[in-house]
Amino acid sequence: MSGETYAGLVVQALRGAADRVVLVGEDGTWSGQAACAWLWRLLGALRQCASEHKPAVAILSHNRPDAWLAQVATMAAGGRITWLHPRGSVADHLAVLNGSAPRLLLLDPSFSPAVIEPLAERFRATGGVVASLGASGLGSDLHALAGAQPECEMELQCVPDEVGLLAYTGGTTGGPKAVARTHGQWAAMARIIADHCEVGEGSRFLAASPLSHVGGTMVLPVLLKGGCVRMLAAPSAESILEALDSWAATSTLLVPTALDALVSHVRDSGLRLPALRRVYYGGAPIAPARLRRACEVLGPVLFQVYGQAEGFPICVLPPSALDPSIEHRWRSCGRPVGSTEIRIATTDGAEAAPGTVGELLARGPQVMTGYWKREDASRLALQGGWLHTGDLARLHDDGFVELVGRTRDMIISGGFNVYARDVETTLEAHPAIEAAAVFGVADPKWGEAVTACVVLRPGCVATEAELMVWVRQQRGAYQAPKRIGFAAVLPLTSVGKVDKRALATRAGQT
Ligand code: AMP
Repeated sequence: MSGETYAGLVVQALRGAADRVVLVGEDGTWSGQAACAWLWRLLGALRQCASEHKPAVAILSHNRPDAWLAQVATMAAGGRITWLHPRGSVADHLAVLNGSAPRLLLLDPSFSPAVIEPLAERFRATGGVVASLGASGLGSDLHALAGAQPECEMELQCVPDEVGLLAYTGGTTGGPKAVARTHGQWAAMARIIADHCEVGEGSRFLAASPLSHVGGTMVLPVLLKGGCVRMLAAPSAESILEALDSWAATSTLLVPTALDALVSHVRDSGLRLPALRRVYYGGAPIAPARLRRACEVLGPVLFQVYGQAEGFPICVLPPSALDPSIEHRWRSCGRPVGSTEIRIATTDGAEAAPGTVGELLARGPQVMTGYWKREDASRLALQGGWLHTGDLARLHDDGFVELVGRTRDMIISGGFNVYARDVETTLEAHPAIEAAAVFGVADPKWGEAVTACVVLRPGCVATEAELMVWVRQQRGAYQAPKRIGFAAVLPLTSVGKVDKRALATRAGQT
């Protein structure tokens, strides 16, 4: 551990920027100096409203610089921050608040009153304090409180090995858990991204994915490289394209579904984005056919990141690795990043034979300390000092990792192991298929029946029988779905991942 902390690095980056613009929001711009001065004022304001030495704070906000600075101020005070996902429901937020036990809830007043009003009321009823980013009738105005503070530099209270962030996992295969990352681990993540993810000097990064999730991981790395971050409060394919173009952004980060939407928009608009150097994508699998299409439309700018709330990033796939003649690279999530080590292990923890599937284990300074207040789950996830990612993978001879699904995504059908991602990739290579999701459904004959839900390309037709034959011919009968449903779109979780639990439940009921 280098002894660095996230807030310490932010202060260093802001001081280095002086009067250069570092953050751009809907309401204006922030120079390094202005952001740093605001940080000191916020520290005083937080202390006043949270009345805690090391405050525990939750934030529900769209992407805005003042929200990100409130995160940094909380961390600078040695406290811990929890982001609520902007698309979550009131019930989702209450579950997170209940688990992470913050003292202060910071709300973005531009959210729908149908969400923030009941949330504020329920939180206050538990004895919590509510404040908002600007004036609102919801609680204290954090901006007014900060504005009234003296602008004096304060001593940072954060230490590398204390918990600074509770991040909630996507919960695609189980209930969400709070991942505890220390101030030092969060700093290590920023360093790894800045040093190993081709973040160009002076880059102009468009934060279009929620800061609460993977979007937030890029802000500090860009600042460390002398760059500037523009935060998009209401991202849509249209607004992302407009901002990339008019602001001449050099990079952005999107989950695969958002990337797909952007690619379609760019193609339909005929716009060219000559300033764009890197489009980071990750958080969920992407079909090789979609990746090829994205490269055709956007150029050689696609940089994949693989990781999870428990440790991010773990592997990366830079554009230079996408050799058109090496097929498996297009299915790969890359190679371990920086000092990260990985292993592919069998269920008893031994090394998987070369080229065979096993669980991906990872080790590095960015990996979590454990799940918040869940010692048993933490012990299991960090057995032997390795993060057990729950992702199934095979390692190719050239060191590139191919993910084939989650451990809980493995379908055991008639005694054979079927990896959902393998079948999805095969289905998505069919000319009529836009997207596919494969999952297991309990079945008296097979134990679990391989089941698929597919979305057809506009104007294309395909029958269930034809698609079953397609998979059977390429992957063998045991991998062919026993049932294939058709849908207009695949259901997504609030963080934009395909919701296989919903699909399996629906398929099990019909
Ligand atoms: P979360 O903790 O919610 O960010 O979810 C992390 C999970 O998303 C990982 O364990 C993977 O299963 C999946 N994931 C993340 N990045 C990628 C990627 N680049 N390719 C495929 N799956 C990914």
